[in-house]
Amino acid sequence: MARDGKKVVVIGSGPGGSSVAALLQSRGWSVTLLDRNDFYGGKCWSFTRDGYVVDSGVHMFSMGASGQFGDVNRMVRGDLEWMTANPSEHLLVAGKYRLNLYQSLFDPRAVLTNLRTNALIARDLAAEKAKRGGLSKELDREVYRAAKKNSLLETLRAVARIATLNPSYLAELDEITLQEFLHRITDETIPLQGLSALSTLFTVIPYSELSAGEFMWCFANTFRKRTLGVPRGGSREIPGAFLRAFQRDGGELRLGCEVTRIVVRDGKVRGVETTAGEEIEADVVISNAGIKRTLEMAGEESFPADYVSYVKGLKYSHAYITTKYGLDRRVVDIPAPGFFSIPAVDPDHMFDYVEEGTVPDDIFLFTPFPSEWDPYAAPPGKQLIICGVVAPIEVNEENVAHCERLLDRGEERLLSIFPQIADHIEWKMRTHIAHTAAITGKPTGECIGLSQRVGQTGVHKPRPWTPVKDLWLVGTDAGARGIGTEQAAGSALYVANLLA
Ligand SMILES: Cc1cc2nc3c(=O)[nH]c(=O)nc-3n(C[C@H](O)[C@H](O)[C@H](O)COP(=O)(O)OP(=O)(O)OC[C@H]3O[C@@H](n4cnc5c(N)ncnc54)[C@H](O)[C@@H]3O)c2cc1C
Repeated sequence: MARDGKKVVVIGSGPGGSSVAALLQSRGWSVTLLDRNDFYGGKCWSFTRDGYVVDSGVHMFSMGASGQFGDVNRMVRGDLEWMTANPSEHLLVAGKYRLNLYQSLFDPRAVLTNLRTNALIARDLAAEKAKRGGLSKELDREVYRAAKKNSLLETLRAVARIATLNPSYLAELDEITLQEFLHRITDETIPLQGLSALSTLFTVIPYSELSAGEFMWCFANTFRKRTLGVPRGGSREIPGAFLRAFQRDGGELRLGCEVTRIVVRDGKVRGVETTAGEEIEADVVISNAGIKRTLEMAGEESFPADYVSYVKGLKYSHAYITTKYGLDRRVVDIPAPGFFSIPAVDPDHMFDYVEEGTVPDDIFLFTPFPSEWDPYAAPPGKQLIICGVVAPIEVNEENVAHCERLLDRGEERLLSIFPQIADHIEWKMRTHIAHTAAITGKPTGECIGLSQRVGQTGVHKPRPWTPVKDLWLVGTDAGARGIGTEQAAGSALYVANLLA
């Protein structure tokens, strides 16, 4: 499509919308970006409180400067800076084994520092088996050897190796769940607990639904790129850097401007209408508001019936809800800025509590320490902790009460692991599904966007183009692979390349 004189309206400034707006503006299009909020960034937003830079959610970025954000930043000549750490994660597995994850699964330090833990895990597994089966000493030794090979670290490596063998495997693996795939590799509880937790960390759905191909892509790239990290200045700096480049190149950013209608005539998009009653004409409209909301705004009658029923059938991920803690001094000292507590529960049922409305005794915690990544995230000498747990998405009274109970349990678990936190809490605040929904304007507070379940990834993922001429989608609901925000930026690269 010729770009000269063509006008683009982008609806939404999430990671997808801000990326595509900056990319197209830098390539000579005339772009207006509208967002309903009076802040930019969508769910990838952060705010300042008492000198702390607080993530509105709880974010870490699996590929940092080497991933999709790095690509966008270089293409738009942005000023985004990344902070990384090695080891990047510290894991407490089943309440007793501690393990560090390094940027590379083959980092020699991983072997050395995790050797003892792996041996402990293997010993306990063998002992458990021996108890169950009453094995002879000789057989016990064999089981020990096999179990050692099946340690969490070894299983993670095996998964990463398989994922890097041949990209066409991913298409095949998109058709089966990660749970099914993993049970073909190992039946050991601890590796499965580790992967059940990590896969939900990446995609916020249980591995019994998650596409194995999608997980493998995310997982292998995280450890292949080796730059997992956070942007300097908080998660808002990602859309922030892109929007600074966008405005520098002449793009128009309008915050507090909600689109109510996408105008379609004769099968072609013509522009948008805002809540203030303003009509903005456009040759191309790119919506970052999510595929379902986009359909509503353009009117179902503008699309073929089978597209409408396909979109209505698409499912969202679960939610992440959080408690943030501003601590009056640095009281937790762990080897890595990212901390996960992986519960000692049946890995196949680790997240059943979300649907059941129950609260598990042992709950998976996703707990980055932003001030350990980026010292500027907290005032000098102080510490910021964000503790996230997985939760349901529908915003209703019952679920909001469920979220509160889950956050109570998350806090109990956190304080049982790090009791020193309790006496140093300067302030704390919770954000849950209602907060996420208030950001996006949807009735649901899903974490990612569309879920990466079997049937919704790879060739089954919604395309960024729609049946309406010149109406495009961008963000986690369209086109790309990856984890949350990075998937959204990948989608923007896809759209910009198709339009340019
Ligand atoms: C608690 C939490 C933790 C998370 N952790 C991570 C993590 O660790 N790593 C990671 O990569 N991702 C994480 N995510 C997910 C990530 O934030 C999202 O997947 C990502 O922000 C989605 O990007 P997007 O571009 O699709 O759109 P969104 O971020 O959903 O933004 C959509 C934008 O569209 C705007 N909009 C909607 N409707 C209209 C309208 N009618 N008019 C104008 N504007 C409109 C909204 O205001 C919003 O700004 C997390 C999310 C949450 C909530």
